Amino acid sequence: MAILKVVEYGDPVLRAPTKEVVKVSKKIQRLVDDMFDTMYAQNGCGLAAPQVGESKRIFVLDCATETHPMQPMVFINPVIVKKSGVFLSHEGCLSFPGVYIDVKRYAHVTIRAKDIKGRPFSLTPEPGTLLAMAIQHEFDHLEGILFVDHVIDRFGTDEILKAHHLPTIEPEMILDEPELDEGLLAMLSEAESGQAAPAKKSKASREKSA
Ligand SMILES: [Zn+2]
Repeated sequence: MAILKVVEYGDPVLRAPTKEVVKVSKKIQRLVDDMFDTMYAQNGCGLAAPQVGESKRIFVLDCATETHPMQPMVFINPVIVKKSGVFLSHEGCLSFPGVYIDVKRYAHVTIRAKDIKGRPFSLTPEPGTLLAMAIQHEFDHLEGILFVDHVIDRFGTDEILKAHHLPTIEPEMILDEPELDEGLLAMLSEAESGQAAPAKKSKASREKSA
């Protein structure tokens, strides 16, 4: 059990390709234990292996809240098999200490992965929850994608990043997400015309980082 160093935005390992885990060996189990220790030490709700400098397809989550108890979870070689809908998520990331911004996310997501014993499982969290957000955030880390790549307000985010002495947005990394843009616009215009409740912010707004 050890607390590992969390790498910060700007470190190339956060953009590097990750390798599938062939066997859940003792070494992998130790890495997962250390990732949990590191995540809890930083008061985070999720951590992906690249954030501790390991280019492996593994992430851990603990999205328990007072109202939604849940067991800590390990995702090995995960695949997102379904995604739809949209929500506005207020997120942080342990590789961006102190930074919280609004990003675009899918509301519904289904993920398949293997657990720490190598057993396959599938999970579909309640739409728009902290768990739904965290799964997408951590899965992105395995693809070399960072939450700022889903940014809504690029220049406002640059100001926040500068204030935290982090590199600014890499414009070429901003994702083209027409489906999410359209969904978000529809949601906001419905809210403006009073036909629906205002665009709901994710319950992730407790400012936990992943
Ligand atoms: Zn993160």
